[in-house]
Amino acid sequence: MFASRFFISTLKEAPSDAEVVSHQLMLRAGLIRKVAAGIYTWMPTGLRSLRKVENIVREEMNRAGAVEVLMPAVQPAELWQESGRWAHYGPELLRFQDRHQRDFVVGPTHEEVVTDMARRELKSYRQLPRHFYQIQTKFRDEIRPRFGVMRGREFLMKDGYSFHASHDDLVREYRNMHDTYSRIFTRIGLQFRAVAADTGSIGGTGSHEFHVIAETGEDDIAWCPQSDYAANVELAEALAPNAARPSPTAGLQKVHTPGVKTIAELANFLKIGAERTVKAIVVEGDDEAGRAPVLMLVRGDHELNAIKAQKLEGIADPLAFASAEAIQAAFGAAPGSLGPVGFKGRVIMDRSVAALADFVIGANQDDWHYTGANIGRDFTEPEVADLRNVVAGDPSPDGKGALEICRGIEVGHIFQLRTKYAEALDCRFVDENGREQVMEMGCYGIGVSRILGAAIEQNHDARGIIWPASIAPFKAVICPIGFDKSEAVRETAKRLHDELVAAGVDVILDDRGERPGAMFADWELIGVPQRIVVGDRGLKDGVVEIQGRREEQASKFSPDEAVDETV
Ligand code: ATP
Ligand code: MG
Ligand code: MG
Ligand code: MG
Repeated sequence: MFASRFFISTLKEAPSDAEVVSHQLMLRAGLIRKVAAGIYTWMPTGLRSLRKVENIVREEMNRAGAVEVLMPAVQPAELWQESGRWAHYGPELLRFQDRHQRDFVVGPTHEEVVTDMARRELKSYRQLPRHFYQIQTKFRDEIRPRFGVMRGREFLMKDGYSFHASHDDLVREYRNMHDTYSRIFTRIGLQFRAVAADTGSIGGTGSHEFHVIAETGEDDIAWCPQSDYAANVELAEALAPNAARPSPTAGLQKVHTPGVKTIAELANFLKIGAERTVKAIVVEGDDEAGRAPVLMLVRGDHELNAIKAQKLEGIADPLAFASAEAIQAAFGAAPGSLGPVGFKGRVIMDRSVAALADFVIGANQDDWHYTGANIGRDFTEPEVADLRNVVAGDPSPDGKGALEICRGIEVGHIFQLRTKYAEALDCRFVDENGREQVMEMGCYGIGVSRILGAAIEQNHDARGIIWPASIAPFKAVICPIGFDKSEAVRETAKRLHDELVAAGVDVILDDRGERPGAMFADWELIGVPQRIVVGDRGLKDGVVEIQGRREEQASKFSPDEAVDETV
């Protein structure tokens, strides 16, 4: 590859909205360009790295026995209605209508489509197990797209779905995927950790996330150096002592609700349909500081909005409100008017009460309420309260040592779905005895585009990116000094280039005629692992200089040795 025919477009400064180093460097190195919030064009250099990640993932998935398919980005609403997620997925699901007013979504994930395919194609136990995967563009209307491709709205995911005749067989494939993911991230060259993850409504131990360890990660990982215990702490971002994070109440909006006195009226005002699940949460307060316990009702499954916060004055123990009836009675709402209310107990660590004080007090004013509260950001779910209170030094649950806490970027997630989707979509097979049974399912995701950001978070310095060789856009760059002026330089550079290409090395020859300083700075920013400098001064002694991106000094080699050194 010759740089003059390729496309290199570097920037001195990153746009000011790029908060984390990977986002800044991806923009400066010309790997991506923003088209809209959370939506990017992959420029030629970035696309080369993206394709390399993709290929590693594809090779390892094929090796593990999964078969590749390509499902559509656009999916009919009917499938989502069948699974029940049309009502429950919330605003992250991008919905639209075609010219015939039929509802569609742009797929954030593909359980419905793949289960629909499986129920048509897989009829007998003889066709099981099967694992279908794809590498495909997803869309999630993230409330706060940020960190470049790490939390995009449009992004590239590898998603796989396996179908089984028994739970035992699902567990076997789940372990196979656990090993496969470990191989993938090891091969890419990332420092990662597999951690037990929350399985939400399904429960059990059937879910693991793979996290790239990095300070800028959005998740907290508790792990024990003396054992293999590791778990996602699911700490609310609001609680994290990290300046790059938004303020605890970012995204909350105060809405004017004149005349609304009861929860039922408020639900009506905010157009919260009865089909919505409503969760209630108690924020524990400190009476002495003037902050009483506060009950909040939150709607939806995942993308939740606070609809009401109210002081529970005179209530000594907020846990007294541990039932839907008690909550509804306290707020004067008619039974059933809020839809199902799920409520477990007190929620928030004491630290967050202070963080939310304004919010809580503000929402208690007459005729004002807040919307946009987000579980996971402003609060965490009651069910994980115990884990959330973990701090470094606490004993590990396996009793083998003390916990440490670090931050991680979720790059992969494997999940035993069991029969959740197969039941909803009636995905059955006939077993050996001629009986119909519902299939067991697993699903397995990798954030292909997110990996690029995560790799840069782990591998960079003041001059730019330092790619792991496995996913570098080019493995080596030839930098000729005086390409236009010196015949010897030109000939040697071209010969090196041709020999490296013949040896299968991804090499680029910088024939743009840039001055050495600017040329070197570009390739350091782009993060090419190896640089070969060809200049008249070296050639007089019969040598060229090779310098690794992490090395302080160059080493001299004859041009022939340089080829061997680079291959
Ligand atoms: P997160 O917790 O970061 O929102 P998630 O748990 O919602 O991720 P999954 O549904 O588990 O994501 O999707 C599988 C993988 O897709 C994730 O492990 C992650 O690597 C990637 N991913 C999810 N959301 C995004 C996004 N907005 N941008 C880029 N990659 C993403
Ligand atoms: Mg998400
Ligand atoms: Mg997650
Ligand atoms: Mg996940």
